Amino acid sequence: MLHITLTGKQVANDPTDPLDRTFYGWGEHDSIMQNWRNNRGYWVLGARAQRESYVLFSYAGTHEVVMAAKIDDIVDAPGKPGRKIIEGEPLAEDHAVHQAYVGKPTPDSARVRNPVTYFETTIGGWPCGCGCGAEIFAGEFVRGHEQTALHQRVAQIGSIQDFIRWFDARMGGADAPPRAPGPVTVNRDGRLDLTIAPDGAVNLTFTPA
Ligand SMILES: [Zn+2]
Repeated sequence: MLHITLTGKQVANDPTDPLDRTFYGWGEHDSIMQNWRNNRGYWVLGARAQRESYVLFSYAGTHEVVMAAKIDDIVDAPGKPGRKIIEGEPLAEDHAVHQAYVGKPTPDSARVRNPVTYFETTIGGWPCGCGCGAEIFAGEFVRGHEQTALHQRVAQIGSIQDFIRWFDARMGGADAPPRAPGPVTVNRDGRLDLTIAPDGAVNLTFTPA
């Protein structure tokens, strides 16, 4: 996560400002779009910024995160060697990154003299655990996908009843709670492997065809 600490709103007095701004810094009474336009550049950003997906802005006056944006690109600031401008857009309020940070205290690691810092985060940007390829920002699954993934696996065994019997039979090892002996029916083609280890442990494995 890229993090930038903003001063309060000030008059921009740079006649060569590539963003052609009247003000920069955090305007408490300005809209998010206005604050984004006033503060997305130009910054000294290292190579790491290119690998970040999101940028948070804190206001130094309150030590709070005030804005979160998605980074689409980091571009050179025209006429400002070594300075960069962030291309992207502010996040909607229901975005997981916005919800995780905006309105909360500035991360401790960002309370330093340099306005530009980075920190590791567990929020944002990894694939859904079901394998569908969707990007998620919190948790392990797109909502509902854990149910789909589970039921697809149940269906490989048969009905839910079949699955429960199969599962209980599989888990009937030494550290499983004792269960009443009873018939186990699997109405599906497959291979049943029964192995008995030297220590007497019994393992039953059903592999659907
Ligand atoms: Zn998924």
